Amino acid sequence: MSDNDFWPDGYSCCVQLSFDYDSNSALVRREPLDIVAQSRGRFAPNTAIPRILDLLDRHGIKSTFFTPGWTVDNFTESCEEIVSRGHEMGAHGYLHERLAELSWESERGVFEKSMASFERLGVKPEGFRAPYWLISDRTLDLVVELGFRYDSNFMDDDMPYMLRWRGRDTGLVELPVEWLLDDWPHFETNRMTTKQVYDMWKPEFEGIHELGRYFGLTCHPQCIGRVSRLKMLDKLLGEMEAKGDVWFPTCKELADWTRKKLG
Ligand SMILES: [Zn+2]
Repeated sequence: MSDNDFWPDGYSCCVQLSFDYDSNSALVRREPLDIVAQSRGRFAPNTAIPRILDLLDRHGIKSTFFTPGWTVDNFTESCEEIVSRGHEMGAHGYLHERLAELSWESERGVFEKSMASFERLGVKPEGFRAPYWLISDRTLDLVVELGFRYDSNFMDDDMPYMLRWRGRDTGLVELPVEWLLDDWPHFETNRMTTKQVYDMWKPEFEGIHELGRYFGLTCHPQCIGRVSRLKMLDKLLGEMEAKGDVWFPTCKELADWTRKKLG
């Protein structure tokens, strides 16, 4: 047990497992003519999402799916299933754009298009995570203006905090992230084995648990949804649960709690 009293009663550490449900949005933008690359993105709605939802049910965990508007528009039933099983949806661009490379008008257009997709789904996302964790110097102003309640892009802490930007309180909670705790670079870029990734994530979790801090893990359905990788995640979640004092909130629950404590 740590002496960190930040967390709700009975908990001494927080694990937040979220998914970036990109499907083939980024591939449609980058490689529209590569038919096979497109099919790889479809592994998420076809196969990975049902598996992941069953895994989350087995563990009794509600999660957050940061989803580009394009995924909402093209795999609507899959997104409805995520919502109907009690999970949260967050915004993640429209076509997985690199926001820092867009003009002001284009960036605003991306947000508006993404919000319209969620509106059709009947969901109002409270959280924003930028594709590639890449934001422009205007992004946070838009995030505040459009009524989001939390952001999940910065890498400067391993505890959630109230986000100040350019010397001013934004009113946003920040749920920090880190490439270490992201499945994509390890599995897809560096082609590491499940054992190697487990051997990175497990000691990080043990250390975070000892200190009573926050372990925010970002996974991509089309990456983590492969059988062997999901088994590794299953095992890791079981070991986290066995501690008996780990809180597994959605991002919204964590943001609301952080605002209550620090806001
Ligand atoms: Zn993404």
